[in-house]
Amino acid sequence: MIRIGRMLWIALLLAIGSVWAPPAHAQAGTMGNVGRAIATCISRVRLGDTPAGMFARPDRFDCTKPQSTLGPGDFWVLSDPLPSPDDADAAIRVRQVSLWQRQMTLYAQAADGRIVGQFADEFGIGRRLRLGAVIEHRFVPAGAPFTRLLWRIDGASNMRGLVLGPRLATDAQSVRSDVLLAALYSAFAGLALGLLVYNFALWRVLRHDFQLAYCALLGCLLLYALSSSGAMAWLLPEMSNNRRILFSYIMLCCGMATALAFCACFFEAHVLDGWPLRAIRVVILAFCGIALAFMAFGPQAMAMLDRLFSVTMLLSPIAVLAALVRAWRRRSAYLSLFALSWAAPLGMLVARSLYNLGLLPWSFWVDNSTILAMTIETLLASVAIAYRMRMLSRERDEAIRQEAISRELADTDPLTGLLNRRAFLARAMSSEGTRTLMLFDIDHFKQVNDTIGHDGGDEVLRLFARTLRYHALPGVLVARMGGEEFALLGEDAMLPDVDVMLASIRAVRLPFDLRITSSIGICHGPLTDENDWKRLYRMADKALFQAKAAGRDRVGRAAPLPIAA
Ligand code: GH3
Ligand code: MG
Ligand code: MG
Repeated sequence: MIRIGRMLWIALLLAIGSVWAPPAHAQAGTMGNVGRAIATCISRVRLGDTPAGMFARPDRFDCTKPQSTLGPGDFWVLSDPLPSPDDADAAIRVRQVSLWQRQMTLYAQAADGRIVGQFADEFGIGRRLRLGAVIEHRFVPAGAPFTRLLWRIDGASNMRGLVLGPRLATDAQSVRSDVLLAALYSAFAGLALGLLVYNFALWRVLRHDFQLAYCALLGCLLLYALSSSGAMAWLLPEMSNNRRILFSYIMLCCGMATALAFCACFFEAHVLDGWPLRAIRVVILAFCGIALAFMAFGPQAMAMLDRLFSVTMLLSPIAVLAALVRAWRRRSAYLSLFALSWAAPLGMLVARSLYNLGLLPWSFWVDNSTILAMTIETLLASVAIAYRMRMLSRERDEAIRQEAISRELADTDPLTGLLNRRAFLARAMSSEGTRTLMLFDIDHFKQVNDTIGHDGGDEVLRLFARTLRYHALPGVLVARMGGEEFALLGEDAMLPDVDVMLASIRAVRLPFDLRITSSIGICHGPLTDENDWKRLYRMADKALFQAKAAGRDRVGRAAPLPIAA
């Protein structure tokens, strides 16, 4: 446990290191946010506005207000003058984060005053997506380099801004970003898919709810990764960008609900009973409700639903923390594993919710934090689940052992260790073919008790049992039928010789030099069903009675029973 815990900490630190190291040079351009950042100013659209007019009126633009404070509507967004390019003939790529908006046109003004524009409605935007859900416009200069950019955004929900994270990149940077992000997303997809198949196969054998919840979580995350990466726009070119965003929201809701369901059933039974479980269930229901609301009213009530979603996102770490506190109080063996593997997603949740509520500035890393955090989580959770499996298989092995012990205890006579009457009958009945039954009854045992006391009598019974066991070959059933009556049952050839038995019993060394003898009743016959058994037992008992009547310390033989035709 300690070793696994230490391994997990090291893995966590490495993972955090690998994720948090890039932002420093990410500014210079790696992954999704390649290129040079562009500063922008905004203005509301007025009747009669034209692109050329807006390029000519930078004074109409506000450069101080955060974009999202202006609310939904139609807007112009003007860039600062673009830096002069190293290569005047090289194409430029304008990249920005995809947002919920009806349509947009991006105009580029060249040094010679010429203006070119590219229009896209929500379907066209989908076709412009690059990996990382980045909208990209490519402009090729015709003689003069481009000096300024102007966006016209119509039907913007403006929940996070109008033109988010705009950057100017080269062809090479854009391709490089796609390749790197393709590597990141496919690594995540491969990992998640592998874990999904592996956990589903394990669930079919072990049937633990948390395995199924984890499979569902991975399924949701895979679909979320497909849509939030923008890859879905490549696979389904006819899908509008707003639909893709809607799909991402729904998958995030389902992912959150399944993650919480996983939390609810990961710990030992009853650990979370009471308010922690209720809190988790409430948040799960809230996410399911919001997912349904997104499906039903998404396009009409996007801003309201987004807010509701962000608040619920902020509530979920509280529900998980409540579960962790409870698990800690009840000393759950899985607490540290759970806390460790879910630390990254929890941190991501808080960061994302704060960003969604406008309390944290936008960054590429916050935007892609779900995938990054879940990559860390899947790596660590696979170790946590493996550990959980090991504990479960240990528990199961122990349960099997305990069951075997208790079955053994239920079948044996506590005084002598021989089979008891019930177990003997059950096994006798399941044997087939002809058998010989030997019934033993110690002679005048009452006198033994009277002479050396009940405890002494017990000791005599133990020694008698040991003698029987000593003479019984493997495969012969040896039982104490009750009191001072014993039985041997087996194939004729396997049973001991009666005279040897009588002599051995006489020779048993007892306390106070006491001697005992036993009478024996024998019967041989078929044993295929309960009636056979009853007949065999009755005849052997009769033979035993005859031996007693004939003076004890001898054998009574019943005539062999006929084999039914
Ligand atoms: P017989 O030769 O006719 O078999 O005489 P017996 O005295 O052996 O037979 P009886 O059935 O009259 O008495 C059996 C005695 O065995 C009576 C009872 O107290 C004793 N007994 C039964 N179970 C136990 C036991 O578990 N421990 C001890 N010490 N005595 C027991
Ligand atoms: Mg008796
Ligand atoms: Mg007796």
